Amino acid sequence: MVSVSGMERLAAAKCVIIKVGSSLLVDPQNGQLRLSWMAALATDIADLRARGCQVVLVSSGAVAVGRNQMQIKASGLRLEDAQALAAIGQVRLAGAWANSFAPLGIELGQVLLTLDDTENRRRWLNSSLTLRTLLQMGALPLINENDSVASDEIRYGDNDRLAARMAQMVGADLLVLLSDVDGLYSADPSSDPDAVHMPLIERISPQIEAMASIAVSTTGSGGMTTKLMAARIAATAGCATIIASGTQNAPLDALISETGKCSLFLPDIKPAQARKNWIAGTVQPRGTLEIDTGAAQALAKGASLLAAGLAAVSGTFERGEVVSICRVGGDELARGIVSYSAGELQKIQGLRSEKIPEVLGYEARKAVVHRDNLVLTGRGNYG
Ligand code: GLU
Repeated sequence: MVSVSGMERLAAAKCVIIKVGSSLLVDPQNGQLRLSWMAALATDIADLRARGCQVVLVSSGAVAVGRNQMQIKASGLRLEDAQALAAIGQVRLAGAWANSFAPLGIELGQVLLTLDDTENRRRWLNSSLTLRTLLQMGALPLINENDSVASDEIRYGDNDRLAARMAQMVGADLLVLLSDVDGLYSADPSSDPDAVHMPLIERISPQIEAMASIAVSTTGSGGMTTKLMAARIAATAGCATIIASGTQNAPLDALISETGKCSLFLPDIKPAQARKNWIAGTVQPRGTLEIDTGAAQALAKGASLLAAGLAAVSGTFERGEVVSICRVGGDELARGIVSYSAGELQKIQGLRSEKIPEVLGYEARKAVVHRDNLVLTGRGNYG
């Protein structure tokens, strides 16, 4: 059964990205951080984690906090001013989050990313590994764009899309965008009394996109347009998106107990399937691994590919790239993300796993292609 309410999605989620907009973090009256609100959200997140759900927190607010700290007005900021203010504000922001989570015994791991870290394959893999490792350690990744080094041409500028890319990076099943808007409306609710709130969006159609251009958040950089772009990115990765208001204390608890209003965007597929589609759809695998009959039979049964079954390696590739897997001299059977470079594989092909550290001189990963990173593409003849 597909969960079709925000409450059900959040209650069932295994890995959630929570994005908090600047408008929620900074008090518009005095420009100060809303510390009691942050403490309440920390408790909200701790409750989610206690349900066995992994959480990544994407927090905006560095520029707004830095501006307040240095008593500089919002209008007419040059890029270098905003970058310097982000550097100042980020320290305070992360400190305030750390203080909010400390009483709950939750350790934060701050990662500041630029567009390059998500668009360049190698950097994507490195960032992805860091995030996954933080989650495995039980820490809470705290993410923001590295505004101080991101230039005007190469920056996200809004954390909605950055958060959606984080969802892809860690294979999250839910992205929650908290801001001062409680979802998508058919028209502008502040000027049109007939505006209807949309609780469920099954597909982002052109009509839905047209609705997005009407609601604009006050303090943040995104507005509804970037939220919709984020929902689209997340949907292609098999991740649902909730747009909800975070203005009241403990907004996640409000969503779970169904007292909070939200718009839920459904994905068409599951995250694991999205990953496999992406692997299968790679236009140009970077190399070919030829495997023996035993390994081909094992792949057909859903096993990982081990070095022992590897007969030949061709192509130039690094760890983390997609390769084609074939029978010796035969057709393609599968594609997968390889755990070793071509050079390493040439040294370890045919070896049993326990021999690998001896040959490479370092502790190695067990599978050449792990089954989670492998998709069968052949037309039979695995035996
Ligand atoms: N990265 C920006 C900051 O921390 C915020 C971007 C956004 O508002 O989405 O100030």
